[in-house]
Amino acid sequence: MLLSGAADAKERYDVVVIGAGLGGMTAAKRLADAGRSVLLVESSSRIGGYATWFKRKSHIFDVALHAFPAGMAKTLRKYWSRDLAERVIPLPRIRFENPEFAFTTTFETNDFQRILREKFGIPDAQSEAFFQACRAMDYYEGTKETTREFFERHFPGRLDVMRVLLETVTYATGANLDDPAMVYAIVFSNFAQKGTCSFRGGTDFLLAAMQKLLLASGADILLRTKAERMETADGRVTGVVLGGRTIAAKAAVSNANLKATCLDLARADALDAAFAAEVRDVPLSVSVSQVYMGVRPGETIPEVADILFSSREETYSAPALCAFPPRSISYSFYYPRHLRPDSAGTEIVASMCANYDDWATLSDAEYAAQKARMVECVLQDLERYIPGIADKLDHVEAATPRTLERYTGHWRGASFGTKFPGYLAAEKLPAVVRGLYHCGSQGILMSGWLGSANCGAIAAGKVEAFLDGTA
Ligand SMILES: Cc1cc2nc3c(=O)[nH]c(=O)nc-3n(C[C@H](O)[C@H](O)[C@H](O)COP(=O)(O)OP(=O)(O)OC[C@H]3O[C@@H](n4cnc5c(N)ncnc54)[C@H](O)[C@@H]3O)c2cc1C
Repeated sequence: MLLSGAADAKERYDVVVIGAGLGGMTAAKRLADAGRSVLLVESSSRIGGYATWFKRKSHIFDVALHAFPAGMAKTLRKYWSRDLAERVIPLPRIRFENPEFAFTTTFETNDFQRILREKFGIPDAQSEAFFQACRAMDYYEGTKETTREFFERHFPGRLDVMRVLLETVTYATGANLDDPAMVYAIVFSNFAQKGTCSFRGGTDFLLAAMQKLLLASGADILLRTKAERMETADGRVTGVVLGGRTIAAKAAVSNANLKATCLDLARADALDAAFAAEVRDVPLSVSVSQVYMGVRPGETIPEVADILFSSREETYSAPALCAFPPRSISYSFYYPRHLRPDSAGTEIVASMCANYDDWATLSDAEYAAQKARMVECVLQDLERYIPGIADKLDHVEAATPRTLERYTGHWRGASFGTKFPGYLAAEKLPAVVRGLYHCGSQGILMSGWLGSANCGAIAAGKVEAFLDGTA
């Protein structure tokens, strides 16, 4: 049931799920399907978390529907519905433009191999060894080698090759050369295995369908309500405080930012001190700024790519990707009828890795000026690919790390939640507070549409075992 306020919630549930991002929703759906009574509580006015959308004039803008691995179809089929799975569509035109190289790829392993051979002189045997190593990366062994060491082992001295294979992962996740090779290898393999994909119908269709399926599974959904804190007794979850009420629960799943979950919701002073210190030290991923552009109805633009990675940087540099004013921008092009078969509109979303600190302390006037400057940079850059673009738009709007933080509660607007140590901390959480599980936006691996949804399903399985007493 869609509840209209905290007062409508039952007194007790088997499980309260905090946060309706892809992870929280998938956990709630799995648990409700298994016959558990579930309350899904979300602080904002709609489900989705980062996977959200908004409408301006005739345009629908997708905030985080740029690309995900083909494996998302399997996840949607397994945990949601066949219809949603069948809406996963390929995005075959991924274009790179930077001072070192320019090409368009399907983003499949074979195509990368061709490009490495034809444009970079890398023999197939060498690239095959690299792709095999990515696929075979051992989960735990892989944490010992950094991404830098991994590339140096496979393509010594070839910074250009490293850029081909790594830069998109940095754009998307903020992962850099110091992150574990395993994280990079798994993310890259997931994407390159069968190419990048999107969702026909857009985020609005997906979320409407998910809400319907959640309600049909018997879950209660409570929007516009922030979970304030966990109630515990003898180190075990007994309930969740929200909207001035304590809702009793045998277990809780938090889809909120991992640090917020442990240090705010579970309260740092109530945690084991060593664990609290570990969580405090978990690094957050970088954030993102975006510029949303709507093409005026009746105007057309040339088909540039599905996604364009445009950079003016001479070489790969993760910190440079986040620099302001931006010199490295990824564009998603939403052409008419590709994503939304019924729409005649064209939208372009520019995304840039961003440092929270570049935005956090600006005054209102400075903030507005920097946003305008960012829009100007984007339009100047896009002009190189679509001459006269500024005159073809009827809507332009920008979002920053502050926007992300405000809407989702992610500390510092971290777009992929926590770096890898966050995954390790999340694994320990149920041993520290029994009955409390975390899902989504952990460790880069358990982030993104696919990782977060799968993380929700995994968390649901653990909660089931806990409730059954088999954990
Ligand atoms: C700009 C941007 C673009 C992206 N593009 C892509 C992409 O193209 N492909 C891809 O795979 N991934 C992309 N991502 C990442 C992806 O969207 C996220 O990793 C994923 O959606 C996160 O899901 P999650 O389950 O961690 O939940 P989140 O999306 O983090 O949602 C958590 C939810 O919990 C709620 N919440 C938090 N605290 C509380 C509380 N105390 N009480 C109640 N509710 C609470 C929040 O309001 C939020 O709705 C992008 C991210 C961003 C920011």
